[in-house]
Amino acid sequence: MIDYKNLKAVVMDTVDKKRDLLEEIAQYLYDNPELGSEEFLAFEKLTEILEEEGFDIEKGVYDMPTAFVARIKGKSSGPKVAVLAEYDALPGVGHGCGHNLIAASALGAGIGAKEVIHELSGEVLVVGTPAEEGHGPSAGSKVIMVKGGFFDDVDAVIMLHPSSGWGVGNQSLGISRIDMTFKGQTSHAAASPHRGKNALNAATLCYMATHMLRQEAKRDANLVIHGIISEGGLANNIIPDKAVCEFGVRSSEEDYLEEMTEKVVRCAEGAAYALGVEVEIDKRKLYSAKKLNIPLIKTLWKNYKELGAPVDDWEESISRMPMASTDFGDVSQVVPAAGSYIGIAPEGTPGHSVQLADATMTDEGLDAMIMGTKALGMTLVELLADPNVIDDAREYFNKN
Ligand SMILES: [Zn+2]
Ligand SMILES: [Zn+2]
Repeated sequence: MIDYKNLKAVVMDTVDKKRDLLEEIAQYLYDNPELGSEEFLAFEKLTEILEEEGFDIEKGVYDMPTAFVARIKGKSSGPKVAVLAEYDALPGVGHGCGHNLIAASALGAGIGAKEVIHELSGEVLVVGTPAEEGHGPSAGSKVIMVKGGFFDDVDAVIMLHPSSGWGVGNQSLGISRIDMTFKGQTSHAAASPHRGKNALNAATLCYMATHMLRQEAKRDANLVIHGIISEGGLANNIIPDKAVCEFGVRSSEEDYLEEMTEKVVRCAEGAAYALGVEVEIDKRKLYSAKKLNIPLIKTLWKNYKELGAPVDDWEESISRMPMASTDFGDVSQVVPAAGSYIGIAPEGTPGHSVQLADATMTDEGLDAMIMGTKALGMTLVELLADPNVIDDAREYFNKN
């Protein structure tokens, strides 16, 4: 095993030296927010910098024009470790999810690791994963890359996400989406109601039935069911022949998510049967829950701690209630993966908000980004220098 203490010091030093460049990336993305699948300016900027830094770049991987894979190789073959970049923004609130800092940190971590890669065996990948927020044809790009087999020969994957607090290893929720179209028969609502088949009534019954499912929810599986009736008729004197519902179902347990998705489908089928209308159902899995990898989480956490980050104990983070869903969950289902949160804004600052977008460019936000970048870079180096961590991570992955 290589003594990697000095190597990590070089990474820290390099990130400090590159601070202006990393802040420039964050600012450029902040000034030019682009929706998912349309992140062309970000893509140009990020790949140009990685090219200048000497990375080999594949652009437009898996038919996604704004996705990329940048590689830098060590002195001989060995493990492949990846850090993921996101750079899509949101409508109305720009970088309200702070992905400008995710991009800056991933590049910074890769560039930091590059500085010592000649001493190591293996490969560092900086992977550009567009459209995390689900917009456009590259929506959930990580799922597309998982399905395409990209991560099959990758040994470990790490990343960070801006937040209002610090943590390593937080869970996320799996999510599926169900669209339902109820189809009945129009009729005069006063003169001939008996000739109608009311699609809205079926949609309403379905909506109520899904509410009742919550009473029997498994208490430790973080079930969330959220839905709307998006179409419900054209005029009050016509019995509606069409009503449309859309539902999201989430849980931190993959099997349970599947079970509850089926139960929501049954609510639609049952309601349609009761009201004598037809229903078309389109259900699909969006993102998987995170599969936690404790050896990797501990390693990433230790590096945050070493830097003096005010990060919660990892045991606390992994047991915290999962709040949202991400395509990083799908990555964690096929390869040892660990995510982290950096605190850029006061506690209670809402995600997906202008306040969070603005927090990315404050001193607090940029300091947090630099600290997170160092932790990611140090972890990449440690993983290549000490093969035990990757072995432990793989063993843990296979057993759980
Ligand atoms: Zn988001
Ligand atoms: Zn996000």
